Amino acid sequence: AEQVKRAENAGAQWLHIDVMDGHFVPNMTFAMPVIKSLRKYTDMFFDVHLMIDKPERYIDEFINAGADGVTFHIEATDKPKAAISINPKTPVSAIEKYLDKVDMVLVMSVEPGYGGQKYIESVNEKIAYIREKMGSDFDIEVDGGINANNIDNAINAGANIIVAGTAVFNDDIE
Ligand code: ZN
Repeated sequence: AEQVKRAENAGAQWLHIDVMDGHFVPNMTFAMPVIKSLRKYTDMFFDVHLMIDKPERYIDEFINAGADGVTFHIEATDKPKAAISINPKTPVSAIEKYLDKVDMVLVMSVEPGYGGQKYIESVNEKIAYIREKMGSDFDIEVDGGINANNIDNAINAGANIIVAGTAVFNDDIE
């Protein structure tokens, strides 16, 4: 922490963190606990470089530990995919300039945070807009409040990946 603070005070804006797993490369270095503990000491951008096998298994954990950016190796995975998500109240124009850089958009159909909320129907317009613009090969995932009654609306709007929590795991489908 002291050394990181010294780099920050000297003007560094990013901290490049090399993560090695002993498989993809022979060495082993930091993992989540180190990143998590350093996160408390600095607001620097944590640029996490994953030199690990099948990095898709751990992306969420690195983000939760405090990574701001995650870089993975094309040699370490056979199904790389990048996705961006958008909240119900955010206009689609906010992600427009990133659309050709990602493989999927995750359209939130409830405010993120907890399960059991009601599907916000106005997101269907957002889904339709993205489908129209990106064509049929693009993935559009919709997450929040999907059940047997409204799944058709999301599909008809253009979503091709559906997340269902409450409708699947609670036994009260209306
Ligand atoms: Zn590196």
